[in-house]
Amino acid sequence: MREYSFWFVVGSQLLYGPEVLETVAARAAEMAKELSRELPYPLVYKVTAKSNQEIAQVVKEANYDDSCAGIITWCHTFSPSKMWINGLAGLQKPYCHLATQYNREIPNEEIDMDFMNLNQAAHGDREHGFIAARLRMPRKVIAGHWQDKTVRERLGDWMKAAIGAAVSRELRVMRFGDNMREVAVTEGDKVEVQTKLGWQVNTWAVGDLVKEMNAVTEAEIDALMETYRENYDIATDNLEAIRYQAREEIAMKRMLDREGCKAFSNTFQDLYGMEQLPGLASQHLMAQGYGYGGEGDWKVAAMTAIMKAMGENGNGVSLFMEDYTYNLVPGAEYSLGAHMLEVCPCCAAGRPRIETHHLGIGMNEKDPARLVFEGKAGDAIVVSLIDMGGRLRLICQDIHCVKPILPMPNLPVARVMWQAEPSLTAGVECWITAGGAHHTVLSYDVTAQQMKDWCAMMDIEFVHITKDTTVESLEHDLFLSDLAWKLK
Ligand code: MN
Repeated sequence: MREYSFWFVVGSQLLYGPEVLETVAARAAEMAKELSRELPYPLVYKVTAKSNQEIAQVVKEANYDDSCAGIITWCHTFSPSKMWINGLAGLQKPYCHLATQYNREIPNEEIDMDFMNLNQAAHGDREHGFIAARLRMPRKVIAGHWQDKTVRERLGDWMKAAIGAAVSRELRVMRFGDNMREVAVTEGDKVEVQTKLGWQVNTWAVGDLVKEMNAVTEAEIDALMETYRENYDIATDNLEAIRYQAREEIAMKRMLDREGCKAFSNTFQDLYGMEQLPGLASQHLMAQGYGYGGEGDWKVAAMTAIMKAMGENGNGVSLFMEDYTYNLVPGAEYSLGAHMLEVCPCCAAGRPRIETHHLGIGMNEKDPARLVFEGKAGDAIVVSLIDMGGRLRLICQDIHCVKPILPMPNLPVARVMWQAEPSLTAGVECWITAGGAHHTVLSYDVTAQQMKDWCAMMDIEFVHITKDTTVESLEHDLFLSDLAWKLK
């Protein structure tokens, strides 16, 4: 990933004279430096902006600089916001307004009119907020003292959502083969998606991959087998199947990296010239931060890559998931998620095992090797991006992952079990009402709030199913939202 940073742009005006402006600049630099120690990405103090030209200039530079993932503004003093119109109207990066002030306390003895003139964020931030509201700009407003833990955490969360926006704008997706025949929800308008989200979604022939696989050497496979042994237990005698997956992984990684792709999809219906559907190969690529979608689902592949990049250290615990089956026993109502093969081991509760089993679906000539494990317990979300025709909708549901309640010894794939909000059945009714797919990105470290912020940055619809959602309230919201998005 790029070395991203965020720019701190502080508003003021020339009226105050050089002494006040020097103090503002020194404090802004100090705040950026101190905040950078706590935040997940550096905050770089750029300018104390005092004129229309300075603001327009810093926005132009932010737009142009690929390493700038967003700007954070604040008004230590008053900054008349007509000065900001030309700059903000051209801003193409995520924008956060930090409504804070340098001092925490009002000093009883020290406070006089000079103090008031220097420390008037309460005044300046309102003027600044008006213009973004007037311009209908997507933005995040975070208020509180800049040294507060919650303020820093919220800034950090917003930064990660902005990283998701930056990764999205440059994302390339490699499709091996088309979508699974007849499936609706995995389809979508690639031109719309590229316009809105930046994704370049294109196809490569499975034959090209087979050619690449044939060029992989035994020594390269030996080296990757060593990595597999370090990370996983080998629970099969069929080493040839594992070596075949290593060959697939090396070839896919080579093609992905050559084309600058961070996500890929394939389909079991198109494995021409391949002996096994990539299982372990896809799983180990996902563990390295690549997004993946089965059955040609390039939307979920792209979302997996973006949400992985939004997580801890740019490769968090976010994974391609599929709703499979329910446990509808009263008091023990759970969803069981898995996939044919391809569940990312980033969520594994223990050390994954490499196993080989027969896979009836698709055109597998040989039994594919795959990682088998249980997903860990913890609060999480599931996310689905769907194409509503004319616009994109992102559906997000709060869930709680549990240790699977059954060992399921004959299930030959990795599995995750969870309780959905507001309950299994009401949650299913809400999900189906909103049109959510059977494929999702399940994330343990990206929050619903971050996905909401990301949707605001990308200008797409966000639907959140929480413990408080009812089918009635959701239907009402979706009805109004449908009207609003048609007018937009
Ligand atoms: Mn699937």
